[in-house]
Amino acid sequence: MTPIGRARAQALEGTKVVVIGAGIAGLGAAHTLRNQGAEVVVLEGKPHIGGRLLTDWSMGAPFEVGAGWIHGPEEENPSRQLADAVGAEYVVTEDENATYFLSNGNEFAEEDYEEMSDGWESVLEHIDRNFENNDPRSLLKAIRDYDSDLLDDPRVMWAFSAWTEFSKGGPIEDLSAVLFNADKAFDTPDVVVTTGYDKILTPLTEGLDIRLSHTVSGVAYEKGDGVAVETDQGVFEGDYCICTVPLGILKAEKIAFDPPLPQRYRNSIDKLGFGSVTKLALKFAEPFWDIETQYFGIVTEPKGRWNYWLNYRTFSEENILLGLSVGAYAPIADRMTDAEMTEDGLDVLRQVWGEDVGTPTQVLATHWATDPYTLGAYAYPRPGNKKSDYDGLARAIEECLFLAGEHTLFDYAGTTHGAYMSGLRAAEAVIELES
Ligand SMILES: Cc1cc2nc3c(=O)[nH]c(=O)nc-3n(C[C@H](O)[C@H](O)[C@H](O)COP(=O)(O)OP(=O)(O)OC[C@H]3O[C@@H](n4cnc5c(N)ncnc54)[C@H](O)[C@@H]3O)c2cc1C
Repeated sequence: MTPIGRARAQALEGTKVVVIGAGIAGLGAAHTLRNQGAEVVVLEGKPHIGGRLLTDWSMGAPFEVGAGWIHGPEEENPSRQLADAVGAEYVVTEDENATYFLSNGNEFAEEDYEEMSDGWESVLEHIDRNFENNDPRSLLKAIRDYDSDLLDDPRVMWAFSAWTEFSKGGPIEDLSAVLFNADKAFDTPDVVVTTGYDKILTPLTEGLDIRLSHTVSGVAYEKGDGVAVETDQGVFEGDYCICTVPLGILKAEKIAFDPPLPQRYRNSIDKLGFGSVTKLALKFAEPFWDIETQYFGIVTEPKGRWNYWLNYRTFSEENILLGLSVGAYAPIADRMTDAEMTEDGLDVLRQVWGEDVGTPTQVLATHWATDPYTLGAYAYPRPGNKKSDYDGLARAIEECLFLAGEHTLFDYAGTTHGAYMSGLRAAEAVIELES
């Protein structure tokens, strides 16, 4: 340990911290504080760690239930650093290695592709050049005001759905036109982790006291007096609490804060968007698609319905197509049974491959909007939001309660690295108060 590390370890000795949530934010915070000598307990409602970072291997290839890509895996990206630390293996997914289909099943001609990307890019440029930072319009309204014909162009609307609604996690009718593209990103092309994304959490859990199946229902806090966190298995007391539950849980007031969270926190929680993204993995005995193509984009109705498919054959031996539903359609898909969702996804595949579409031998589906510990996918900026609606949530409350998680860091919201950074920031804030 460095001399500074040793000094801090002594400084935090005897300091008790209760962390709520064993996702990447909570584990990052807990790991940092424990390394500095604090006594930390992590309370997790589910019977497993990971939260929205969870890999299911039952198909023989990694099905990422939540986060699927390391976005911008540069060396400075903390998720990349965690992945390197466990010797993770990656495959770059190439956005250009894609084939697009119109709703009649015909492949895009060259001009279809050009008109789609020109339409998409011209809207982004128009917003960039002409919109003030506080413009209250939604992205949909911005498109309509710029060129309402674009709304009738299914190719352009496909791009706004499959690219924008997917990356931001909300429908264009409810996304802020100015903020949806104002966050930061690491630049390098995205990768999937072929050895399983959730393994990156393992080093963070070492030596931690993690209580699984402990659902928190209340947090009482008082400056100078610390915190009392109520669960279905008893009360946990500490000097500090770092609460990393998803925005959906805060919105639904699943945890009673005593006293209630200050009004400006409550306002931000209510105002921020929290949508869904639905994943459907269909495994087949034989591929009926071109196994060299990474992505298939399909123009579908209604907007957001299984419009983007990732071909697992480009990085695994398994004949799996992973379909995505986004925007306003994702919460609808989430409420389907797995059988209904499978039929819905197959219906879209038949648009392109007709009778060649086989019967899946195995299916995995997600339902984030109805997951009682998440109630959605990731935070998105709604019209009228400010960056401070995210970042303001991270400010210490009565010097003993901190909120952390992907929804508390505007620049990298909706990502694993953003969530992790928010956990480290909360840990640093505790260290600061103790020094
Ligand atoms: C479908 C989907 C796709 C995504 N794709 C990507 C991607 O490709 N790349 C990327 O970087 N990011 C992606 N993300 C976002 C990324 O997964 C999240 O930003 C990140 O994992 C959030 O971490 P967190 O620690 O903030 O929250 P979580 O991981 O949600 O952790 C919060 C924890 O709190 C627990 N909890 C909730 N309520 C209670 C309670 N009352 N008591 C106790 N515990 C409770 C939850 O069970 C959970 O474990 C995706 C997310 C989803 C849902």
